[in-house]
Amino acid sequence: MTDLRALIRTIPDHPRPGIQFRDITTLLLDPAGLRATVERLADTVSDRPDLIAAIEARGLVIGAALAVRLGCGLLLIRKDGKLPGGTIAEDYALEYGSDRLAMHVDAFTPGAKVLVVDDLLATGGTALAAARLVRRAGGEVTGARFVVDLPALGGAEKLREEDIETHSLLQFDGD
Ligand code: AMP
Repeated sequence: MTDLRALIRTIPDHPRPGIQFRDITTLLLDPAGLRATVERLADTVSDRPDLIAAIEARGLVIGAALAVRLGCGLLLIRKDGKLPGGTIAEDYALEYGSDRLAMHVDAFTPGAKVLVVDDLLATGGTALAAARLVRRAGGEVTGARFVVDLPALGGAEKLREEDIETHSLLQFDGD
C-alpha cells in the first residue's frame, strides 16, 4: 500500500517564516503515489457529481485527474483576472495573505452538483470561496475533497458549518 504521507515533502518557512509548506509536487512525481491519490479520493465519492470544481493551482492537477476518474466535467476556479469569459469573484483570506478567486459565470446550469477539490485544506478560506462561487451561480455543492488537511487551522470545521461535507486523505499536525 503506497504511503502517501512519505511522498509529501515539508518545506519549512515557505513562503513566509513560520509556514510549514506541505509540498505535493513530490507526490505528483511518483506514478504509484499519483494513482493512489486519485483512486483514494475517488473511493470517498459515493454519488458522482456533474462537475469537479478544481482550485488553482495545485487543485487543478488533482481535480482534473479525479474528474477523469469519476467521469464528470471539470470547472476551473482560478485566480481573478485569468479566465477569458465573464466571471464572478470572491475575496478570501489565506493562511499567508489574501486573494480573489473567480469562475466563469455561465459555467453550468443551476442545479448542477459540484464537488470542490484542492490539494490542501488549511483555514478553509480558499475552499469556502470556491463553494460560495458555485452556490452564487446556482450550483449544489456536494462536498469538498483534499489530499492534505491541517486540522489545527480549523478548515474542516468551517466547511462543516457551511454544510459542506469534507474529506481529506491525510492530516498533518505540527511538524
Ligand atoms: P486555506 O484557504 O487557508 O485553507 O489555504 C489553502 C490553500 O492554500 C490551498 O490552495 C493550499 O494549496 C494553500 N496552502 C495553505 N497553507 C499551505 C501549507 N501549509 N502548505 C501547502 N499549501 C498551503
